[in-house]
Amino acid sequence: MLIFETISQYQSYLNSCRLKGLKIGFVPTMGALHEGHLSLLREAKKACDIVVCSIFVNPTQFDNPDDLKKYPNTIEIDKKLLKEEACDVLFSPKRELMYPSNTVLSFNFGDLEKVMEGKHRFGHFNGVALIVSKLLHVIQPDKAFFGEKDLQQCRIIETLVEDLFFNVEIIRCPIVRETNGLAKSSRNLRLDETEKQKATILYQSLLKAKQLLKEQSLTISNIKKEISQLYQEAEVYLEYFEIVDAKSLQNIESIKQVEQVAICVAAYINEIRLIDNLVLNEEA
Ligand code: AMP
Repeated sequence: MLIFETISQYQSYLNSCRLKGLKIGFVPTMGALHEGHLSLLREAKKACDIVVCSIFVNPTQFDNPDDLKKYPNTIEIDKKLLKEEACDVLFSPKRELMYPSNTVLSFNFGDLEKVMEGKHRFGHFNGVALIVSKLLHVIQPDKAFFGEKDLQQCRIIETLVEDLFFNVEIIRCPIVRETNGLAKSSRNLRLDETEKQKATILYQSLLKAKQLLKEQSLTISNIKKEISQLYQEAEVYLEYFEIVDAKSLQNIESIKQVEQVAICVAAYINEIRLIDNLVLNEEA
């Protein structure tokens, strides 16, 4: 695996790939790699000739300095995992390379960023859009792979790429879970065994809401009340639980209103913030 820390090194390699007509697949990450990330790499490997993974903990997308400070760093294990997955290139830039000046450009995604993660993590999607734009310009991939674990992020990036005519295809990949349903996340490394058990409430509550939606005996607002009761009983702080249109991510009053429904949750297990979601397919 080639490891590049500068743009010029990477881009001379990119030019040699282009001359050979090779297709580049890109998986951006913040490291502390787990099966979720690896599933993206495997998809990229299947669809492209060369797979580039980036590891960069992006400061501008953190609204909580403590969360940034405590973000897990397992770079040596990550490199080993990437090699095992036959990843071709690791791009791991220093902070100064990606942010050479103090200028932080602004994006406005309108209603898409006014809900859920955007509402609760101030400036988060501005930071995401900024780093994804920078990385797409540097890496110049044919396809870039993102996990549906971050559903709102997928919609933001799809909007960004479409609106700014980025020459890349965005590929969404399904959520990878532990056997107990907990969505894999780098932040899970910060959970002890009891907390991990407690964290299963996120997926359980998504399944419960899905079942209630299917039964059609409660209104959406009563389903949300029932779910919030579950969290109170479990003594887990629920930040939001939303039932939305999977495309616009806006609240809905009835599932008949939209083509596809998504149920999205954010909750705290002690001070660790976790998110999860379930997109309902017609047959589900
Ligand atoms: P992160 O390192 O958390 O920024 O994540 C990098 C990429 O991996 C993003 O596109 C995430 O959506 C994706 N990802 C993280 N966790 C999972 C998971 N459990 N299943 C699928 N994709 C994931």
